[in-house]
Amino acid sequence: MSIEAIRTAIVEGAPGEEIASIELPPSFRGAIVRADEADMFEGVASEEKDPRKAVHVEDVALPELAPDEAYVAVMASAINFNTVWTSIFEPLPTFNFLKRLGRESEWAARHDQPFHVIGSDAAGVVLRVGSAVRSWNPGDAVTVHCNYVDDQDPSSHDDSMLAMNQRIWGFESNYGGLAEIALVKANQLMPKPAHLTWEESACNALCNSTSYRMIVSPNGSQMTQGQTVLVWGASGGIGAYACQYVLNGGGTPVGVVSSPERAALLHEMGVEHVIDRKAEGYRFWADEHTQDPAEWRRFGKKIRELAGTDPDIVFEHPGRQTMGASVFVAKRGGMVITCAATSGFTIEYDNRYLWMNLKTIKGCHFANYREAWEANRLVGEGKIHPTLSKVFTLDETGQAAYEVHHNMGEGKFGVLCLAPQEGLGVTDAERREELLPEITLFRRHAG
Ligand code: NDP
Repeated sequence: MSIEAIRTAIVEGAPGEEIASIELPPSFRGAIVRADEADMFEGVASEEKDPRKAVHVEDVALPELAPDEAYVAVMASAINFNTVWTSIFEPLPTFNFLKRLGRESEWAARHDQPFHVIGSDAAGVVLRVGSAVRSWNPGDAVTVHCNYVDDQDPSSHDDSMLAMNQRIWGFESNYGGLAEIALVKANQLMPKPAHLTWEESACNALCNSTSYRMIVSPNGSQMTQGQTVLVWGASGGIGAYACQYVLNGGGTPVGVVSSPERAALLHEMGVEHVIDRKAEGYRFWADEHTQDPAEWRRFGKKIRELAGTDPDIVFEHPGRQTMGASVFVAKRGGMVITCAATSGFTIEYDNRYLWMNLKTIKGCHFANYREAWEANRLVGEGKIHPTLSKVFTLDETGQAAYEVHHNMGEGKFGVLCLAPQEGLGVTDAERREELLPEITLFRRHAG
């Protein structure tokens, strides 16, 4: 049976029994990187490494289904920054992650392949479930979160992000979301928001859950009402969800962006205080080795001018370029919460400002199932909105990753996998109509 039968059945809204009866194809198309090309960018500067050269869309054999897993027919997926990391083989090629996973069990060995099907987001329909799956059935419309956890590991049973072998699906495991069919653990599944299209549903889970943990959860900064939060990259993948959480929670976001268009987008979202870092011309690093505290001070003064106070929380991810400033500007007793280091992971800051002012730097990474579920619930209830700004086809995955690598867009980029066109998958048209201006904010700004 061909993949076309699956596509048609889903587009026509076929019931679960019919989806369950469709014979599965022996292979499917997926966006992959290849182990034999992992050194293709040797000697090339990071900025010049081109995902368009490394990402191929090819036929991949359908792996067997483990008892605790589901096959998902992926209607749409999304690009994340980890798609960029995988496709430029930085900081490491992902094949060693797959090898390590492959050694864990007989089932895990399926992941150790000379190709890596990438992608850590998906929205689609469950095609089959393994014999141990209880809560999901063929035909269920779902989104997929990327926390890949072994539930037989005792260390996963407090906060699963603390599990010894916690992984990110589609980055540290194979058979990810940028494909026609994805292989997921049942404990990655969440209900698809009824008022959103496939592509609007697919773009949230990774970034939205990360920002939920960083801003809302006790595992992150647990912002309380009235607090001021400095958000770097405030119109970007994680930043735009962070701003929504700060606003929803009664806080004051101070968003940092790099263009007047991005500032206007944030104003429309309800972020009053925005700093255009390019227009201000901050040079936190005087040269490659030396930071300039006068520039940290100038930045801090600007935040005080706008918000009337220092930030209680700094939402940090650019890393080397900004961490010195982030530690400096945080309020006495405040927190810098960090989940990344896009501009470099060897960080320098002046520790005197940290200890004398009793500040905290806290590391944060994706989200556990409960946090991802809550973040997804808020999307489903129309309290957090997708930030989809542009949509690509599966064949254009490399181009989409290239554009994210070069900071060429806002919010999230969606990717149509089995969905034949945009705009499909909505089952609550009434709620969609009510929320349309918020749902389409980023798309309208992208033009
Ligand atoms: P995006 O590219 O969508 O957004 C990042 C934003 O950061 C850009 O829009 C840009 O905004 C800003 N930025 C980039 N470079 C700098 C710089 N040198 N100084 C200041 N601002 C900068 O990426 P995401 O938001 O999706 O991801 C950001 C980082 O977080 C990535 O490294 C990603 O891998 C990581 N991440 C980590 C997760 C985790 O679980 N640990 C989860 C999700 C993401 P502007 O130019 O407008 O200022």
